[in-house]
Amino acid sequence: MNDRRKELAANLADVESRLAVACAAAGRQRSELTLIAVTKTWPISDMRHLISLGLHEFGESREQEGRTKWGELAPADLTWHFVGRIQRNKAHRIGEWADVVHSIDRPDLIAPLTRSGRRPAALIQVSLDGDMARGGVLPTGVLALASSIVESGMPLQGVMAVAPLGMEPARAFEQLQQVSHSLVSEHPGATWISAGMSADLEAAIAAGATHLRLGTSILGSRY
Ligand SMILES: *Cc1c(COP(=O)(O)O)cnc(C)c1O
Repeated sequence: MNDRRKELAANLADVESRLAVACAAAGRQRSELTLIAVTKTWPISDMRHLISLGLHEFGESREQEGRTKWGELAPADLTWHFVGRIQRNKAHRIGEWADVVHSIDRPDLIAPLTRSGRRPAALIQVSLDGDMARGGVLPTGVLALASSIVESGMPLQGVMAVAPLGMEPARAFEQLQQVSHSLVSEHPGATWISAGMSADLEAAIAAGATHLRLGTSILGSRY
């Protein structure tokens, strides 16, 4: 009856077949993967469809948009992921509604993120090409940032990266997996690897991703 719901259901089915193929190729189980629907720019009506189709993990990359959606959908049992760049003057607001923050890349974000008294789960965003303008701490800075996060009382869950432009995603995600190994050796609970977007989820699954952030493949093109 509702065309948009049908379209989203079909997209999700396509994503699930890609996941099945990629898991089989990597010798992994689908149950090792958490699917995050990145709903930035998409309306709440789409999120309601996705909830009715069984999704409950959502990613947003803008503070105000995420907060508005969170407010509207608050009674639902959802997990809210903040995946965008964090401006320091907005970090305290993100800390009020996000359950997981994927994009922590510098220590001065920690105090504002926890100012409300909430302790969102923390992922360290890693820059794999050294172009820090796109966000992320260099691999050599991960352990120091991890210590600061742990001291703040935020649960440290792992690492996140976006495959850099002009780098083979497989190579990028293998590097991220190395960074993850060294983090886990110091912080055994920090096992999450947030990697893989619509275009490169297969490479991410091959390199041990645990959390996939999918926008276009579920919701369609944003443009
Ligand atoms: C938009 C976005 C995604 C989703 O990207 P798609 O290519 O649409 O799947 C994932 N991660 C981050 C950080 C994003 O900003």
